[in-house]
Amino acid sequence: MVIEAVPSIEMVRFVNSGTEACMGMLRLVRAFTGREKIIKFEGCYHGHADSFLVKAGSGVATLGLPDSPGVPKAATSATLTASYNDLDGVKELFAKNKGEIAAVVLEPVVGNSGFIVPTKEFLEGIREITKADGALLVFDEVMTGFRLAYGGAQEYFGITPDLTTLGKIIGGGLPVGAYGGRKEIMQMVAPAGPMYQAGTLSGNPLAMTAGIMTLKRLQQQGTYEYLDNITGKLIAGLLEVGREAGHKLCGGHIRGMFGFFFTEGPVNNFGDAKKSDTEKFAKFHRGMLEKGVYFAPSQYEAGFTGLAHTEDDINFTISAAKEVFQSI
Ligand code: PMP
Repeated sequence: MVIEAVPSIEMVRFVNSGTEACMGMLRLVRAFTGREKIIKFEGCYHGHADSFLVKAGSGVATLGLPDSPGVPKAATSATLTASYNDLDGVKELFAKNKGEIAAVVLEPVVGNSGFIVPTKEFLEGIREITKADGALLVFDEVMTGFRLAYGGAQEYFGITPDLTTLGKIIGGGLPVGAYGGRKEIMQMVAPAGPMYQAGTLSGNPLAMTAGIMTLKRLQQQGTYEYLDNITGKLIAGLLEVGREAGHKLCGGHIRGMFGFFFTEGPVNNFGDAKKSDTEKFAKFHRGMLEKGVYFAPSQYEAGFTGLAHTEDDINFTISAAKEVFQSI
């Protein structure tokens, strides 16, 4: 089902979490290209493997941690970072490290520094640069997979990476992850090829069954229109009542993924996101909790809607937010 759904995936390996998917993917891009360096973006999170804990978003950003203690320098020495939506920065890194970069890894829509959308030029540009240099392009679709479209962000934007990582949705709430891509690359993975990666619980029947049921439900007609509709209403309503109450806010959504920042914006990268008033966000979050609405507990996390959310839930959330915005 994953192969049928996701444009870049001709062969797939199931694992048990998004972290594990990204760890397998990292070894694979290095094995396939024979190169060691990777480029990631400031504020993007790719699980908690050592090599990725450089300028990571999510909890690392929320807790204000620099880079985690316990990560040896050697583990991150081949991890280069650039600013999201900054194509020139990526070009510069390629110029300085010609023929040495195994892959560019990114969240095709960022969720781990809050909700940040890529420009078309940025996505198209890194697709071109990676191809020209013989590096691989990896979309970490742990959040965006099956959420922005049935075929993920790559279907939504019409840009095909070489490899993709998935998690969350494909396990229907049970622990799961996956990495996949072109057959030629995936055949490096044991037992088909020499790159070792394995796991006792990978592809276990419980998680797979939950994932299959979820994907079947998502295949029903109108799923993504419904998500787009309720999420659009939610974010438009939140921004409206927030601004009416005098707060500087910006935000947006794509299908079932959304977010807003307590700053005027625009927010195109983690540096912009950090201009947000996080204390205000904390007050907003606590106020909403008291009214029975649980948002992700950080300014640096995106929000998601699901098919269980009704129009009534959306209206309830907006009226609760109106009162909370007025009180902070
Ligand atoms: N990649 C992305 C884009 C994520 O959002 C996450 C988790 N939020 C991960 C990787 C890691 O997944 P897990 O928490 O399942 O290890």
